[in-house]
Amino acid sequence: MAGFYRSGLLDKYEGCFHTVTTKESALFCQGSLALHTGEPAEEIIANRREVARRLGIGQQAYFVVAEQTHSDHITIIEGGESRGWHTAEDAVANCDAMITAQKGMVLTILTADCVPVLLFDPEKEVVAAIHAGWRGTKANITGKTVQKMVDTFGSNPKDIVAFIAPSIGRCCYEVGEDVAQHFDDEALCDQVGEKYMLDLPLANQKQLLDAGLNAENIEMSGQCTACEAERYFSYRKEQGCSGRFMSMIGLR
Ligand SMILES: [Zn+2]
Repeated sequence: MAGFYRSGLLDKYEGCFHTVTTKESALFCQGSLALHTGEPAEEIIANRREVARRLGIGQQAYFVVAEQTHSDHITIIEGGESRGWHTAEDAVANCDAMITAQKGMVLTILTADCVPVLLFDPEKEVVAAIHAGWRGTKANITGKTVQKMVDTFGSNPKDIVAFIAPSIGRCCYEVGEDVAQHFDDEALCDQVGEKYMLDLPLANQKQLLDAGLNAENIEMSGQCTACEAERYFSYRKEQGCSGRFMSMIGLR
């Protein structure tokens, strides 16, 4: 959290706000922002308060956190209140993608290796945040979220700008046949004995392209959470670490 990480592409648009948090040793649990991983809630909430303060948007913004379940469930977020932010009790239930057209609502995704995808339609003024692990990716949650923006808000996929935030990369994401069987040769970039190297960011990029986005409107962070475990939480690299970093997006 010492530094926030941002997409150069999304930063070009004044209408949207986004950021990705990073680790900070001075903060409790290195700045983890997850309430579901067993750390004392008051410490995590203090971390969240600190993030909001540093972002300088805490006064005008409402933060929305989902109860992520590796599903393909998409929720439209309305109403001027934070959810899942001060307590996990009122998090958006059973949900891995959120969309909003309401200004000041900041949609958040918690990850430690899974793929966070942030979307912004500058024409219709709609944002979305997606959590795509292998199960969500297999279920095409990213493609379905674009489609939901089209169906609900009249978005044209050609207008949508996307950022695929740091996640575990093809360099480090080894999977077995049980997972590999759900992906095509393009996503399975390498085979090592019985194991495969799975490229989840690439699979999500492909879903965005298949949903009609222009290639130049998609930014890949290219950062691997396992290679850069000093900076990001990595469940694999840290062998079941309980911290999570947060990717967030909202309309100004
Ligand atoms: Zn790596």
